Amino acid sequence: MNPLFADLPTTIFETMSSLAREHQAINLGQGFPDDPGPEDVRQKAADATLHGYNQYPSMMGIPELRESIAAHYGRFHGLSLDPQRETMVTSGATEALTAAILAMVRPGDEVVLFQPVYDSYLPMVRLAGGVPKLVTLKPPHWHFTSADLDAVFTSRTRVVILNTPLNPTGTVLPRNLLELLASYCVRHDAVCISDEVWEHVTFQGHEHIPMMTIPGMRDRTVKIGSAGKIFSLTGWKVGLVAASPELLRVVSKAHQFLTFTTPPNLQAAVAYGLMKPDSYFAEMRAGFQRSRDRLTHGLQALGFDVIPSQGTYFLNIDIAPLGEIDDFEFCKRLVTEHGVAAIPVSAFYAENPVRNVVRLCFSKNDQTLDAGLERLARAIGKMK
Ligand code: PMP
Ligand code: GLN
Repeated sequence: MNPLFADLPTTIFETMSSLAREHQAINLGQGFPDDPGPEDVRQKAADATLHGYNQYPSMMGIPELRESIAAHYGRFHGLSLDPQRETMVTSGATEALTAAILAMVRPGDEVVLFQPVYDSYLPMVRLAGGVPKLVTLKPPHWHFTSADLDAVFTSRTRVVILNTPLNPTGTVLPRNLLELLASYCVRHDAVCISDEVWEHVTFQGHEHIPMMTIPGMRDRTVKIGSAGKIFSLTGWKVGLVAASPELLRVVSKAHQFLTFTTPPNLQAAVAYGLMKPDSYFAEMRAGFQRSRDRLTHGLQALGFDVIPSQGTYFLNIDIAPLGEIDDFEFCKRLVTEHGVAAIPVSAFYAENPVRNVVRLCFSKNDQTLDAGLERLARAIGKMK
């Protein structure tokens, strides 16, 4: 069997959610909201299932959704995309990432990534025969410098994989760092696969800037979004891809043999949802920001050192003050002994992990957050 997969552990999200089920824990691990998502969007999917076309849709996505993606990114970011030649729909961002990596990375090409790294990237880079070159980000700001980039960019660099807002750190990359990275991409003629699934989940004072809008990057970026994150419907798995015709043509060749198409009822609902008024997106953000603040203040009241969250469904705590315990041991004991699931951030490092940071998901209703805090209050004394 292929050792790449035979030797791969089950993803940390599945592992922690299984432990949460087994121990009837409050699941603040895997990122999904308690909120059922906007009813009108779900109604559209139901209507499309009952009264719409349920056979294979077009491989690139239904025309309404491709138009809607172009209009959406035009409205929010001033991007001008040709729906026919520059947009594609995939079965989740996960598929889009795999398609982009398989399409862009040739055996022996060097690929620049930032760790903590979202867990699907590295196995897919290796599958493509790419050579990972890792920049290590550290708390509390998780930023990189030009010296970090000098250390990883070489004449063999072909692809950079960026994630902003960044999961698991909850940070949003500021314009100056996007511009710095863009200057390296341009100088090395590299393509940027830009995972922007959290583009709408950003909080006051932190605006998401798509890599594609940075000078020099319009035609060398594969922009990836996820309807699951935009509409709090993480099970839907509808991915949104935007790229220049030259790049998209090749990414679509990988997509055609990964899933080929994506359920048309969900596509119809997402096409509708992306056209919702600005107020929908602002209210969604405000709701998550309230939950972020509730969990942040609750944790601080318990004495936890919270690393502020600028976006995503996640905040992080620094467990160093608790003493010797590392993040894996902390999360294992937290879920099995105290009934709260969390994610150890070292799971997102391929080498030299940061071992004192734990990710908690706040996209939950107040009762869930308060119950989690109550259990954490009982746990904290016993973990020292
Ligand atoms: N990239 C990042 C950074 C994510 O956080 C997630 C899911 N949480 C994905 C990709 C996968 O998105 P999807 O569910 O649309 O496949
Ligand atoms: N991306 C989600 C998270 O970070 C989980 C998605 C998954 O389970 N693959 O929690």
